[in-house]
Amino acid sequence: QGQGDYRILHEAALRDYLAGVADLAATLGGEPASWSITEVGDGNLNLVFIVKGGRGGIAVKQALPYVRLVGESWPLPLSRAHYEYLALSRQAELAPGLVPALLHHNEALALTVMELLEPHIIMRKGMVAGSQYPRFVDDITTFMARTLFFTSDLAVSAAEKKQGIAAFAGNHALCKITEDLIFTDPYRVAEQNRWTAPYLDALAAELREDMDLHVAISRLKLKFMASPEALLHGDLHTGSIMVTGGETRVIDPEFAFYGPMGFDVGAVLANLLMAYFASAGHERTPGERRAFEAWVLETVETVWNDFTRKFLELWRAGAAGDAYPASLFAGETGAARLEAERQAYMQRLFADTVGFAAAKTIRRIFGLAHNIDFELIEDPRRRAISEARAVRLARAMMLEVGAFPTIADVTAAARKLR
Ligand code: ADP
Ligand code: MG
Ligand code: MG
Ligand code: MG
Repeated sequence: QGQGDYRILHEAALRDYLAGVADLAATLGGEPASWSITEVGDGNLNLVFIVKGGRGGIAVKQALPYVRLVGESWPLPLSRAHYEYLALSRQAELAPGLVPALLHHNEALALTVMELLEPHIIMRKGMVAGSQYPRFVDDITTFMARTLFFTSDLAVSAAEKKQGIAAFAGNHALCKITEDLIFTDPYRVAEQNRWTAPYLDALAAELREDMDLHVAISRLKLKFMASPEALLHGDLHTGSIMVTGGETRVIDPEFAFYGPMGFDVGAVLANLLMAYFASAGHERTPGERRAFEAWVLETVETVWNDFTRKFLELWRAGAAGDAYPASLFAGETGAARLEAERQAYMQRLFADTVGFAAAKTIRRIFGLAHNIDFELIEDPRRRAISEARAVRLARAMMLEVGAFPTIADVTAAARKLR
């Protein structure tokens, strides 16, 4: 099938299509006419249908040739469905059980069928409601440590690494969205920007004039563009994580490409910190969400600490890549120097993570795509208070890198601002 075969499959066409794929029809069970089909896409880009039959259910995701949030005036290549499928396949190998199982993919239709995650909910929604997720830290740190380590030069040969980069290099239109919406637009006048006016007008103006900040965000942008360290998820916010009390699944890797590891880790930390600052805006009585807020900050710390521990364990156990050749680190002296270098590597990764977390925060408050953590705070004055606290921390994280040598310095600063 060529690209010419693409068409948007709305309900009736989707039913016919699924009925024609024997495995999927069998998974659903019963007569195709009896299947329920509901569009549930709440993301910014694509269509997602939940289909249920007499036996079971599936989730169907189809890319649109444009950005859903904006409309046909903003075209976006269908090939992102190919990269999402490729990334999901790699993640399933590297972090088994932490992504939805893949059931079917049609390249020409830019359509992927996955395991239906049920009763999982989007983690961000759960956090707005004040829910805690005890499995989250262990699962997300396993996901990040394994997908990042095993696609890096620490784990694979130089040839394999470059083949990996090549396989995702065509996903540049999705990278460009990040480059524009995260690393550029919030710091200049851009038509798509919005913020909680008038309360944040002054802060928005400061972002447009602060040259120190413009240098810092441009450095981060360059790092994003020019550091193919590992295969990233590329959009690892709490809206791309589905959870129950006992399970975690990472979805929606359509922004996948080879980039700097700190971008994924920073995305997770930024979204936890935003949930923390937003929490005050969701309380009906003062102090009501204190236990939740304590859990969020503890989670920020354990995500970084457990990620570091797992990443280092993988590195110590089996560095099969071409970086840091064992022949250069022989004997006790070599082993000691290599271990010191591993620690230094994690320190650099932490500095990147802090910067990217800051960038991911600022874009959610001044850029195009906002998140429900803040958006669901109805009173704009209260919302602005939460948002301004998050921005204050983010600015410090971007500009005063030396002030955050450890993750505990980040949570301490967050606690002070609350
Ligand atoms: P987009 O790329 O447009 O953001 P997502 O992949 O994030 O699309 O999916 C949008 C929504 O669809 C998710 O927020 C979630 O509610 C739902 N969804 C996606 N995949 C599944 C799945 N496998 N099972 C159940 N619901 C899903
Ligand atoms: Mg999404
Ligand atoms: Mg996003
Ligand atoms: Mg998406």
